[in-house]
Amino acid sequence: MTAACRTGPPDTADWRDRAACARHPEPDIFFPTGRGTEEVQAKNICGRCPVAEECVREAVRTGSMGIWASTSTRQRQRRHRAAPTARC
Ligand code: SF4
Repeated sequence: MTAACRTGPPDTADWRDRAACARHPEPDIFFPTGRGTEEVQAKNICGRCPVAEECVREAVRTGSMGIWASTSTRQRQRRHRAAPTARC
């Protein structure tokens, strides 16, 4: 096992407290029903977020739906399928 393969729960309280979406007045925009204005708004907010890296790791780890770190559920699924499997 290498340091890069270290597993365990992330320090969620820390990174989520710094999330740009943490106190957004319209959290539903991160769960758009189509590819419209809401998705663009959410991705713009993610583009200014200081914890996007932690966010996308968590989304992939948990298989979460919606916009996380400027990626849609489908985009994360495609990237995950294309990425080589880690050998830990
Ligand atoms: S990257 Fe986007 S979804 Fe993730 S914590 Fe930041 S603002 Fe929220």
